[in-house]
Amino acid sequence: MPDHRVIQVAVPAPLEQTLDYLPASPGPLPEPGTRVRVPFGRRSVTGVVTGHATQSRIPDHCLRRVQQVLDDAPLLPAELLELGLWAADYYHCPPGEVLAGFLPAPLRKGQAPTRRPPEYWQLTDDGRATDTGRLRRRAPRQAAVLERIAESPDGLPVAALADLDGDWRAALRHLRGHGLVAPAAPAPTRVVEPPALNQAQQEAADAIIASLGTFTTHLLEGVTGSGKTEVYLAAVDAALARGEQVLVLVPEIGLTPQLIERFNARVPGRVAVLHSGLADGERQDAWLAAADGEAEAVIGTRSALFTPLARPGLIVVDEEHDASLKQQEGFRYHARDLAAVRARNLGIPLVLGSATPSLESLCNALAERYRLLSLPRRAGAAQPPRLELLDIRGQPLDAGVSRPVQERMRAHLDAGGQVLLFLNRRGYAPVLLCHDCGWIAGCPRCDARLTWHQADRRLRCHHCGHERPVDRRCQECGSTDLRDVGQGTEKLEQSLGERFPDTGVIRIDRDSTRRKGAMDELLDQARQGEGRILLGTQMLAKGHDLPDISMVAILDCDHGLFGADFRAPERMAQLITQVAGRAGRRERPGEVLIQTHHPEHPLLDTLLREGYGRFARSLLTQRREAALPPYSHLALIRAEAVDQDPPRAFLEQVRRAGTDMASGDVLLMGPVPAPMERRAGRYRAQLLVQATHRAPLHRLLRALVPRAAELPGARRVRWSVDVDPQDML
Ligand code: ADP
Ligand code: ZN
Ligand code: ZN
Repeated sequence: MPDHRVIQVAVPAPLEQTLDYLPASPGPLPEPGTRVRVPFGRRSVTGVVTGHATQSRIPDHCLRRVQQVLDDAPLLPAELLELGLWAADYYHCPPGEVLAGFLPAPLRKGQAPTRRPPEYWQLTDDGRATDTGRLRRRAPRQAAVLERIAESPDGLPVAALADLDGDWRAALRHLRGHGLVAPAAPAPTRVVEPPALNQAQQEAADAIIASLGTFTTHLLEGVTGSGKTEVYLAAVDAALARGEQVLVLVPEIGLTPQLIERFNARVPGRVAVLHSGLADGERQDAWLAAADGEAEAVIGTRSALFTPLARPGLIVVDEEHDASLKQQEGFRYHARDLAAVRARNLGIPLVLGSATPSLESLCNALAERYRLLSLPRRAGAAQPPRLELLDIRGQPLDAGVSRPVQERMRAHLDAGGQVLLFLNRRGYAPVLLCHDCGWIAGCPRCDARLTWHQADRRLRCHHCGHERPVDRRCQECGSTDLRDVGQGTEKLEQSLGERFPDTGVIRIDRDSTRRKGAMDELLDQARQGEGRILLGTQMLAKGHDLPDISMVAILDCDHGLFGADFRAPERMAQLITQVAGRAGRRERPGEVLIQTHHPEHPLLDTLLREGYGRFARSLLTQRREAALPPYSHLALIRAEAVDQDPPRAFLEQVRRAGTDMASGDVLLMGPVPAPMERRAGRYRAQLLVQATHRAPLHRLLRALVPRAAELPGARRVRWSVDVDPQDML
């Protein structure tokens, strides 16, 4: 009897569909979520089983066979498989690529899902009762390991065994197998008692806790310093007490060591951290510990959303407005939006927290799709910072710093405070100009200028990474009178060093924190008061709690007022509010000065007089009137090529095909060149698809994307689809 059992497999390739295979052998079929090795073209690849069928559209004799089943039990739970297939459809991304992206690299390559021994070990009761003398005669290596571990009753780091002779790992495995040693929690520094929550915190925590076990999305809108983290922790405690696991997404792990510390202090030894800085093995260990249910709190950046959990109970997305939650290439998903899908599928609550919620989330909260929880005041004794605009038209500036700002800095430093200067531009100067002929050093591969980095005497493009030694002479006229225009953080640092010679200056930007651990060190120095002037880019805006900062100066935010992107005002307001929120987080009241050339600009005026919450609500009204997201839905089709014409020609073909297919409620606009048309040696163009409702947009894309792939122009470009684009670049 012919074998009519077909296995559907998502293979890591740009295919819209899963592929059908015949089973490797009779017997039960590998369950969905199991990895299999399958032939694909002339290669053999690792795919994930997504389902079974009794029949394939392809005749039996053309079907190929699964070569090997790699897992005894599904590696991806049904719930994650469902999320992946949903996301592949929603973002128009190949399902095999989406699911491959869910797996840590070694598992993606087909390796066995084994965990390395835990990091810390201690003796069990049996281990303590063991006669090491007898053990030494029978198994000297095991005895050596046992004795070494016995020296550290609170847990011995595995690295402390590395100097033992021979295969100590095998010895450790034997000891564990005999129940003489067991993994220990990584020596907890201390368990910190939670502070008594204030009333607003308590109400928010109660609402979240009451929703455990059901799908509810909470938007926790809490001003900076209002104690959102304590609310998360209270909810986390409650979920753990129910025996559940929690997943916490944060914007960028390197920027939030404090949050991890706070989790570790409250639930020591039960936290797994997942981020891009981990080695493959470490990532896999954490991933499997979460899947096993051993790691109870999983903290990570956006892709940690796809971590399997044995007993999921709660998802938290901190700083839910942050742009880094959206992946900008390949599988272009938004982790906040997919978190909502996952929480709904699981029937568990989702908490979105921010001092400056995205307009999307705010809109959902106002429409009562989300439950709005607010923390209107700072926790403890801290007062809200006072914001003030400073008109710098015609004013003398020293490396971009006006005299009034310098005076206020002195006053705050004299009073023992710390000062933070925000300048969102790294390097020494953004422009290098020839004073004789006006030539400007530009990037040969982009429509962009090169930034001068003085410390290593190089010119760098911040868009494509091109760099070269700084020019001595003008490339046009040969003059040696080259001058820098504008300022970056390096120049500001130098100038502050001259003006405040007795005060330590700490610079935090991508250059000063490149080395692993550098960010932590600099923040520690800041916390210990070694540097009392802090300056930096938006890396400084995110969630840091530096108790002594009493003054913040925002040196240049004017470009946010005139950005081409419709999200520019929202972003500007979020950045100003977040940076300002670093001031006055304890007893010292905070003062925030915002330098501007446009002191009467209505956006700045509203933001300062009414605060982010009211500002954002009025932006929402404008978005509604302009039919922009969240009151309409967008997709951006991008194309790029080495030559200028093919991207536009291809998108023109796409537009024509799309217009024929589209019902009246979907608009195709463009193609137009990207705002920076040439980047990294390629010309870029884009086509915008807009619809009032999601359903017709997705109907169109579902038909258009496969059609676009077959258009004659498709072969001459690289192209992609971005659903709910965050950047219109
Ligand atoms: P947010 O994340 O909202 O900006 P944090 O959670 O970092 O705020 O809290 C700001 C500061 O206030 C932290 O130092 C925190 O320890 C403190 N804090 C939070 N809740 C309380 C409370 N109920 N009582 C006293 N201090 C608190
Ligand atoms: Zn010149
Ligand atoms: Zn460039």
